[in-house]
Amino acid sequence: MSGLVNFRGCCSVLVTGASRGLGLQIVRDLASGGSSPGKIIATTRNPATAQKLQELADKHNNIHIVPLDVVSQESIEKCVEEVGQLVQEEGLNCLINNAGINVVADFHSVTAEKMIENFHTNTVAPLMVTKAFLPLLKQAASRGKAAGSGSMSIQRAAVINITSLLGSVELNWGERANNFSWYPYRTSKSALNMVTRCLAVDLEADGILCMGIHPGWVRTDMGGSQAPLSPEESISSLLHVIGGLTEKDHGSFLNFTGEVLPW
Ligand code: NDP
Repeated sequence: MSGLVNFRGCCSVLVTGASRGLGLQIVRDLASGGSSPGKIIATTRNPATAQKLQELADKHNNIHIVPLDVVSQESIEKCVEEVGQLVQEEGLNCLINNAGINVVADFHSVTAEKMIENFHTNTVAPLMVTKAFLPLLKQAASRGKAAGSGSMSIQRAAVINITSLLGSVELNWGERANNFSWYPYRTSKSALNMVTRCLAVDLEADGILCMGIHPGWVRTDMGGSQAPLSPEESISSLLHVIGGLTEKDHGSFLNFTGEVLPW
């Protein structure tokens, strides 16, 4: 399954946490398609050490590497300025909030500091990044409308939050509950899901599609070597799904296969 064709007409996509794992794979897939977005803005907190990303950018001149540490407001503001210069009056079509951390702690080892650290990166940061990029997203949404596309899509303007099944309150119960009693990670993703719904309510009038998507359990530094999916399998399906999003998906929580997940 290829997600590439559905990015036709999408001028710009920004990905956070593009140095490795799923973020890097998103950039790789977007860049290698025949209908690649005009500008792929690959952000990373440390461009100098993001070697694989640098190699990819050397091969594809539509990849622009921009520094962004999602937990630093100063870094967010600098990034918005740089991206504004890159996209100019076209604005930003698609923001993918992918950067995340997993602070592993069960009931016995959890501390207030661990909860707050995970919450900052996985919940607060996507909200602050979205707030900062709103003017550029609005710009893209209104250009899309002026060009005759009044419907919602990533080709017009969208915020995609990479969330997790582990954030589902409903699935963490009875037979479907699993061994991952990770308090900081689970709660940070549950809260991200609520941020997504709040954004969907607030940004609807601007024509900006907002949704959350679970990438599956994937073999990355975070997912570990036991995970059933490769980054290639996860991301080709995930991009196919987000490439085809419409109004009916606004405010949704989807699996990487496109199924609706329980909150
Ligand atoms: P990895 O640990 O492999 O990569 C995490 C990425 O996030 C890295 O690029 C890292 O950058 C970046 N990052 C972390 N903190 C910051 C920060 N403060 N500022 C900027 N970038 C930051 O994780 P995955 O690729 O597996 O996960 C990507 C997303 O998918 C996460 O949101 C995760 O929760 C979610 N997810 C993953 C699953 C899996 O099975 N892998 C399952 C469900 C959800 P750096 O290299 O600088 O550390």
